[in-house]
Amino acid sequence: MSIEAIPGTTVKTMRAAVWTGPETIEYRTVPLPEVPEGWSLVRSELTGICGTDFSILHGSHPRAEAPVVMGHEITGVVEVAAAGGPAAGTRVTVEPLIHCGTCHPCREGNTHVCRNLKLYGIDVAGSLAEYVALPAETLIPISSAVPLQEAALAEPLAVAVHAVSRSGLRGGERVVVFGAGPIGILTALVARHEGAGSVLISEPSEERRVVAEQLGFDTVASGTDPVSAVMEATGGDGADIVFDSAAHPSVAALLPKAVRVLGTIVLVGVYKKPVEVDLQALTFAENTVVGVRVYTRADVERAVKLIEGGELGLGRIPVQVFPLEETPAAFTQAMTAGAVLKVFVGPAGANGKEEE
Ligand SMILES: [Zn+2]
Ligand SMILES: [Zn+2]
Repeated sequence: MSIEAIPGTTVKTMRAAVWTGPETIEYRTVPLPEVPEGWSLVRSELTGICGTDFSILHGSHPRAEAPVVMGHEITGVVEVAAAGGPAAGTRVTVEPLIHCGTCHPCREGNTHVCRNLKLYGIDVAGSLAEYVALPAETLIPISSAVPLQEAALAEPLAVAVHAVSRSGLRGGERVVVFGAGPIGILTALVARHEGAGSVLISEPSEERRVVAEQLGFDTVASGTDPVSAVMEATGGDGADIVFDSAAHPSVAALLPKAVRVLGTIVLVGVYKKPVEVDLQALTFAENTVVGVRVYTRADVERAVKLIEGGELGLGRIPVQVFPLEETPAAFTQAMTAGAVLKVFVGPAGANGKEEE
């Protein structure tokens, strides 16, 4: 099915924030997306902006090719349903992964680490537009009783759920998180919810350290050496589990010093370049180092359950919403990495949809 216009209307075009090349996002009128058989048309409600989007904007993402509509952290309402998919009017979050189905990881059922992994919003059009077309199986209903800004955290929360699940966290364990960006904070919230005995967050930005503190986490005081703080908090042992959500070379050097003997390091953030790490220290301490790539379908479903359950206190995370036409300003705000933890892009116009 390739739709000519939104059923019951004469709407044939939509507004979109199109990435057209390095540092350039153009606000344009474009045709409605094609909606093949088995796909749904989703009206975008909120799109989260993250570090992956920054690298696309800068032209440094290894796969993204201009022009493309970014937006892989998608929350919306089904406008045109597919047979067997969520009905029109259903609020959905999206598992935006595209896997090849033929490589070894795919054949083993590990499609999230597909060797040819692609994402809606990076390789194919995403939700920084009024509408986005998606295969029905990528849509996961989320209760519309949940505040929209909490529902819109499902994708990054799925990363946190996956990271904590990969860590093997057991009740009472002492956790350290490097980096109080959205993923670091969400990982800390999930770790606490899953029974961590303590969670200490290390973050160089004072504004973000304060956010972490307001969410009830112990933080490394500014000007304090993070490793000394970890040792003090753990009676000199080091942390059972260290999550690296910072992916900064200075943090890589600290990981072997912050983790205890036989402890686990979880690499959540994405390092842009190879970094120096003391592998001898990891060897002698028999540490486990775990990589994290996106999330599985089950992680997204778990994230939706956590949001619907309302137990994480996600409403206390400071967020800011920009209208679609101000997408470049949303990026500028997101890249300042200040007290606003998460930036979203909503529909065009201050009061919802722009009439044209
Ligand atoms: Zn993202
Ligand atoms: Zn594959």
